Amino acid sequence: MIDVVVAGGGPAGLTAALYAARSGLEVVVYEPRPAPIDKACGEGLMPGAVAALTQLGVHPEGQSLRGIRYVSGSRSVGADFRAGPGRGVRRTTLHAALRQAVDDAGVPVVPAAVGTVVQAPDGVDVDGVRARYLVGADGLHSPIRRHLGLDVPVGSARRFGLRSHVRMAPWTDYVEVHWAPAAEAYVTPVGPGLVGVAVLTRVRAQFDAHLDAFPELRERIAGRPMTTVRGAGPLRQRSLHRVAGRTLLVGDAAGYVDALTGEGVALGMAQARAAVAAIVADTPARYELAWRRLTWRYEVITRALVGATSTTIGRRALVPFAAALPRLFGATVNILARPA
Ligand SMILES: Cc1cc2nc3c(=O)[nH]c(=O)nc-3n(C[C@H](O)[C@H](O)[C@H](O)COP(=O)(O)OP(=O)(O)OC[C@H]3O[C@@H](n4cnc5c(N)ncnc54)[C@H](O)[C@@H]3O)c2cc1C
Repeated sequence: MIDVVVAGGGPAGLTAALYAARSGLEVVVYEPRPAPIDKACGEGLMPGAVAALTQLGVHPEGQSLRGIRYVSGSRSVGADFRAGPGRGVRRTTLHAALRQAVDDAGVPVVPAAVGTVVQAPDGVDVDGVRARYLVGADGLHSPIRRHLGLDVPVGSARRFGLRSHVRMAPWTDYVEVHWAPAAEAYVTPVGPGLVGVAVLTRVRAQFDAHLDAFPELRERIAGRPMTTVRGAGPLRQRSLHRVAGRTLLVGDAAGYVDALTGEGVALGMAQARAAVAAIVADTPARYELAWRRLTWRYEVITRALVGATSTTIGRRALVPFAAALPRLFGATVNILARPA
């Protein structure tokens, strides 16, 4: 019997594997996709994620981010991170760095998806392999969450994400969030010659068609080569619990509100650490409490923002409101950005 099977080799799963290995546990990761894995993501690592990576000795290259700037036409408001810089990092760079650390720690990565999960009082059978614990880190549409009957239906107002990159020198060291009536565009510098552009929206359309709603941004990037567009969604996912028997869900698999506040990787990493601490203590229920403690700030603020900007009036009012109350804007950004 091994100690831990981790299903999913994204940032949350690889982080869980690293913490488990460093705690002296025998751990195996299952991940069907070849490294380095790309994914639709804004690629802005918040200060909490940068701090967690540093603590693990993982240093992916990227562009330093000093804060968040909201932009709407000629109006804008910025807030600097107080807990140190964030970092814009290509997903493939982040994945390669985490995967290298996992390989260096001697953790095997099985190139396969987890199929069958059978819970027993003293362990979990994962495709015939008996483990004391299973960490489900299999992403937004987690097959393990569904298999365990933990999926909770969400409302019909679904949001989706699309992202591409523009090959040009960054013009900002903020994550810029450009607001339009039906979508937001997230601009994140990720390298000296590469700028990520992610669009979040309820409206299904091609990436290029969405860009028409952002004339200033469109003009700035006009004629520059772009990378392949990737999509993800629906974004909102809920799980009844985070712990079922000896299975613990971390990262997007544990539930997700929206990418609007860019906390996914930081949260997933903090959850991975908490899940491993509960496994080391052999008290899985402790993780459910830790998950709530880590996640509630993000849940409350992200749900409030998604709700407030679900109407045209709310979307028009947001940037002027934030610009009129820059201290409130700065405090909100930093409540979210501070390391867990
Ligand atoms: C448009 C968009 C923009 C975003 N912007 C940001 C941002 O700027 N900053 C930020 O921090 N976060 C952002 N996020 C969120 C962030 O991408 C996620 O929160 C993060 O990737 C979650 O990591 P994870 O490891 O939980 O899941 P994932 O990265 O999805 O990894 C899950 C892994 O599980 C594997 N898998 C699936 N099924 C199985 C199975 N049965 N067995 C084994 N493995 C399996 C998959 O192949 C995958 O590699 C954004 C998300 C979107 C959609």
